[in-house]
Amino acid sequence: MNRIPIEDEIAALRRDLHRHPELSGRETRTAALVAAELERLRLKVIRAPEKGNSLLGVLDTGRPGRTLALRADMDALPLQENACNLNGPKAVVSEIDGAAHMCGHDFHTAGMLAAARRLSAAKERLRGRLIFCFESGEEMGLGDDARALLAELKPIDAIFGVHVQAAFPCGTAVVIDGSCTAGCETFAVKVRGKSAHGAMPHLGLDPINCAAQILCGANSIISRRVNAREAAVLTVCNFHGGSTWNRIPDECRMEGSLRFFSERVGRDLHALLEQTAAGIAAADGCTAEVHWRNWCPPSVNDAALAALARAAAEKIGADVIAGEPWMASETFARYREICPEVLAFVGCANPDKGCGAPQHSDRFDADEDCLALSAALTVQFAQDFLGGA
Ligand SMILES: [Zn+2]
Repeated sequence: MNRIPIEDEIAALRRDLHRHPELSGRETRTAALVAAELERLRLKVIRAPEKGNSLLGVLDTGRPGRTLALRADMDALPLQENACNLNGPKAVVSEIDGAAHMCGHDFHTAGMLAAARRLSAAKERLRGRLIFCFESGEEMGLGDDARALLAELKPIDAIFGVHVQAAFPCGTAVVIDGSCTAGCETFAVKVRGKSAHGAMPHLGLDPINCAAQILCGANSIISRRVNAREAAVLTVCNFHGGSTWNRIPDECRMEGSLRFFSERVGRDLHALLEQTAAGIAAADGCTAEVHWRNWCPPSVNDAALAALARAAAEKIGADVIAGEPWMASETFARYREICPEVLAFVGCANPDKGCGAPQHSDRFDADEDCLALSAALTVQFAQDFLGGA
């Protein structure tokens, strides 16, 4: 297996990032560490700190050729990390209360720096340009600063990214043709009625009863209005109304998200939820407003780039397996506005080490061996895409 040995420093850096996670948009320490390493490698570092923490490192070989962007995200989640994984104590745990790298972005950042080292050392054997893109705020759907910086460097021929995946065993790589992460849109429904005594509901307009019917109606959208061959999810994750047992409130609210693998289905779901909320509210004499935010399209892997990534994974000795698309969403999708994209999944589960809890859960723990595989895959893909000098 032609895996690149990860220097102890990079493994230590990954652990350091894990111990000091920073929430979306606040990755100042992480960005400073990344910038220092890119500068040490004599890459051109491009930042716009007044606009965000994202930064780029440019490796220009000086020889004509294509331009490839490589992307890593840097932020952590607002979660309290559990010191144990599925088997027992973790090797390394967050030292920051209420923040934890429970999606593996510490691996992405460190793995990309390892790749930057290797590719800088191999510069004389490459053509074209490489742009290392470190994105801030992925978990919150921020990261527009990264894309703005990158767009300034157009033309860019492709962008490649890795996401570690607890759904797959360590040692495996999954590169899907087409949609590989779901699109997403977040909604908040505010139902307004009229307060009344709980014993005399006819004197008011009950927004809780109305919101409950909207919730049931919303769930029927997926089962009755979306083609069963299209994968889509509509989930309400909070529901609030009233504060006591004998008074109907004026208002009831709920929040949730839509997930979809086709933008057309996403737009249909958006319209159908508004129609359902307005129609049910009108029937109940209430009003319903639907507020939307964080539209993110699905990530869609370009077929030729996906084939190249699978071939690169085989070359480095990864076990290339078939896998399902991820129902979670990724701002990686938005780079499609700039150039064709491919996002490779690298397995990080290992039951022997207790690694296998899902991402975004407090017991998530990635097998550290996935760091070497992620870096090796990035290096191999970049070499194959750019070609030799
Ligand atoms: Zn993630």
